[in-house]
Amino acid sequence: MAICDRLRGSYGYYSRQMSAPPSEKRRNVLQLALTDGCSYNRCTFCSLYKAKETPQFGSGSFGIKTFEEFVFHAKRVLNYLEKHEPDTLSALERIFIGGGNALTVDTKTLQRSSQFARKAFYDATGNFPRRISIYGNTNDILMHGRDGLPALLQGGINLVFWGLESGNKEVLKIAGKGYDDIKAEDTAVLLNKMRLNGLESSLMVIPGLGGERYYDKHILDTVRILRIARPRWITFIGLHIIKGSPYERWIIKEERENRNRRLTPREIAEQTAEMIEKIDFKTTVGVHGEDVHGDLSNPVPIGSYFLGHRTTTNERLSFLLRREASARPLPQAFEHLEPNFNDTSTPAIKPPDDSVFLTDLGIYSLTHIHDYRINNNTRRQLNKDLFLLSLLDTELFEILIRENSYISEKPYLSNFLLS
Ligand code: SF4
Repeated sequence: MAICDRLRGSYGYYSRQMSAPPSEKRRNVLQLALTDGCSYNRCTFCSLYKAKETPQFGSGSFGIKTFEEFVFHAKRVLNYLEKHEPDTLSALERIFIGGGNALTVDTKTLQRSSQFARKAFYDATGNFPRRISIYGNTNDILMHGRDGLPALLQGGINLVFWGLESGNKEVLKIAGKGYDDIKAEDTAVLLNKMRLNGLESSLMVIPGLGGERYYDKHILDTVRILRIARPRWITFIGLHIIKGSPYERWIIKEERENRNRRLTPREIAEQTAEMIEKIDFKTTVGVHGEDVHGDLSNPVPIGSYFLGHRTTTNERLSFLLRREASARPLPQAFEHLEPNFNDTSTPAIKPPDDSVFLTDLGIYSLTHIHDYRINNNTRRQLNKDLFLLSLLDTELFEILIRENSYISEKPYLSNFLLS
């Protein structure tokens, strides 16, 4: 359990749960609370802070610590770890400054806070944090702007999680994000410039947002913004339509008037695949399931992949997404979205020609197995690819195992085939 969850309601942590990206709730991350809740809190699909009461601020409200309060909080947490959890302290490598959109805090206070956190981290652990990350929405990134972001970078903040969700103006309006495509583009330009100075970004996109009516626009306009921002990470987040939310009311009305409909899980996987296919820069994409995102999981989770070679990795991933979507039973959480999934009269997405494609994949894998011994990242990537391949074509995989002692040394791969 993350430090902020274990110490929730004490040591300066707020009483409601701090929202943080899954990567920032790991064992090696120190979460510090500068804000509570989300200052915006009006996105139509988001319930993160809407229903949660806090004794300090009430339901849905937002609070900011002063610099002095933040210093007191950071000191108390580090003292606690020093005294009671030395192992946790020595495992720390990074800091996340929460909560929902802590980037809303003015540049000066935020810079001083992260500078202090960085120094206190060094005093307690003997090392500077490898990175300091923060959630930021479009308006807040623009508010800091060309002058403020370098100041934050100087203060130690070197990663911003930007909830883009979509690059399309209509979809952004439906989602109630509070900004349009022009502002999204300005933000992307800014983040791309900052990337060259060392401030990385991680973007979140929601496939399925806007429904069938905006299917193509959501893909094209989102990819356009991604290509401008060139983030180091892109995470696809599942659309969880909350009962009674403004978003649900909107889509019900659209469906009633026959203007639109929600996408099926297969179509969501297809839309994700189409976005991945169009990404033309090096980045890592994450399409995770319930284990990582809980309610916000993707219907067809395939994990994280580094996209380094556009015409191979992207096609392979999009193929896997489509193939898995049509071959796998749905996770329970998605059943309500596609009541006719098991009805054979529903046309399935036509996968590419299996025999040709799988042979290509096989050759690709065989060729790269020999590279494994050189590069660890490639090895990890190919291990995953091979495992996924085995889900698609057992016969091909048997050949791979016979031909390659490297694979047969991997018990999870051989076990899979023997089972
Ligand atoms: S900015 Fe983020 S946390 Fe705030 S309401 Fe929108 S999606 Fe939710």
